[in-house]
Amino acid sequence: MLRGMMMNEPLLVTSILRHAALYHADTEIVSRTTEGPIHRYTYADAWVRAQKLANALAALGMQPGDRIGTLAWNGYRHLECYYGIGGSGMVCHTINPRLFPEQIAYIVNHAEDRLLFTDLTFVPLLEGIAQELSGLKGIVVMTDRANMPESTLPGLMCYEDLLADQPGSFDWPDLDENTACGMCYTSGTTGNPKGVLYSHRSSYLHAMAACMPDVFGLSASDVVLPVVPMFHVNAWGIPYAAPMVGAKLVFPGGKLDGASLYELFEAETVTNTAGVPTVWLALLNWLDANRKTLTSMRRIAIGGSACPPVMIQRFREMGVEVLHAWGMTETSPLGLANMPKSKHAGLSADEALALAAKQGRPICGVRFRVVDGSGNDVARDGTSFGRLLVRGSTVCSGYFGVTESPAHQMVPGWFETGDVVTMDADGYVQIVDRTKDVIKSGGEWISSIDLENIAVGHPGVQEAAAVAVPDEKWGERPVLVVVRKPDSALTREELLAVFEGKVAKWCIPDDVRFVDGLPHTATGKLLKSEIRHMVTGPEGV
Ligand code: ADP
Repeated sequence: MLRGMMMNEPLLVTSILRHAALYHADTEIVSRTTEGPIHRYTYADAWVRAQKLANALAALGMQPGDRIGTLAWNGYRHLECYYGIGGSGMVCHTINPRLFPEQIAYIVNHAEDRLLFTDLTFVPLLEGIAQELSGLKGIVVMTDRANMPESTLPGLMCYEDLLADQPGSFDWPDLDENTACGMCYTSGTTGNPKGVLYSHRSSYLHAMAACMPDVFGLSASDVVLPVVPMFHVNAWGIPYAAPMVGAKLVFPGGKLDGASLYELFEAETVTNTAGVPTVWLALLNWLDANRKTLTSMRRIAIGGSACPPVMIQRFREMGVEVLHAWGMTETSPLGLANMPKSKHAGLSADEALALAAKQGRPICGVRFRVVDGSGNDVARDGTSFGRLLVRGSTVCSGYFGVTESPAHQMVPGWFETGDVVTMDADGYVQIVDRTKDVIKSGGEWISSIDLENIAVGHPGVQEAAAVAVPDEKWGERPVLVVVRKPDSALTREELLAVFEGKVAKWCIPDDVRFVDGLPHTATGKLLKSEIRHMVTGPEGV
């Protein structure tokens, strides 16, 4: 074997921010702060402050490998944590504040976090669980002295005080690129949450993939606002991808309602954004109600759960391109992204929409297989379905602190996603369902996603979930649980009529139950287990 003769420069996230500070020094980072006002500074400023933070961490006695938790919205101080903590050889452990307090305590303790950085918003939450967080050496509130809260929490520190006296340059350690830099726990809809440890290398490679034209398509002329939170899978990699290309970053803080997002989108001329369908549903309703449209937006990435075709259509009518994408906490998250190929130029509007509603095709660097119950590949014909397996440099190989053999290794070396999908000859994957959500009727599988997409296509429907209810004859039958739009008088019969001709007769839901609201997970997905319970439980709707 003849080795290549190229320098072995490790892929470290620190080099991403250094690059932005050198060559996009005056490009802005704009944040809506928890304290209220809009904050503005530049990549050059962020680079200096990340180094101040790294010095502060060293002064507090933190060591390489230590896990440092964050409970924070999308904002500039959180960005400084990503780089200051990760660059120091420590692990920036982002925690989802929407989880139940006991889950947060479990996660902090399981990760053995030594310090916790928190936004003002979450101080009361921490006060409630402080007793259980015995391993923490301290809590840092991400604010200045003037805004420090009165609190019962012991040893509370002020972020700006910590940084104030530190030098703005830091001797970053020479790290192996496989060193961990970030950590995120899965939301734990089944069993306890599990910790995924991202490395510098995986984060760097993932950021490069995220920038590609058929993924987020980011460049130095873009303005990016990640709605997807920095506490869940690194905001889909945007805090690394944007500085890599020198895109201006806009952080929305904790205000994710339609009006607040619209205001920032327009004021900062945002061109790219990303988030889960629930957020876009709220934005679209607000835009409709206020007769507004998006004027600078170019591309919206939608993923985390299936993006209904009607949502793609509504954004298209505003001249905004939708990128449907698929990912998991375990895959950094981006794995599939949906942009058409040159050969699709002649598709009719309906065909193009059907294609765009698929979850996407593999991003280079992430390999996929679709297999049957015995682990054999199924045909790539767009109709044969099987379990989706994945592997690659941005896919987790195990979970933090879990020693027993990973249950996800159905085929050794491949991570089992838990999704049931089809793949066509061009590589486009369509999710039929998560394995646990699929409705099995008379031995056939009914896709809850298909039924939901059709239901939300009705103008009177705000949100819809399709769940299985036990049935003596068929095993399971689908039932729709629906939230009507505020002014809608939609009936069961009217809604069921729209399914005629769109799905096989036996796939049409047996019933429709109207409710005032549907429960969501901490990451904004329909909480199917609870919705099933709403229908089948003792107080069934
Ligand atoms: P959790 O597994 O805790 O819900 P993740 O955010 O890691 O958290 O969820 C990953 C899952 O989300 C995928 O396995 C898939 O079922 C679902 N998902 C992600 N993107 C899409 C999408 N575009 N369409 C349908 N489902 C999606």
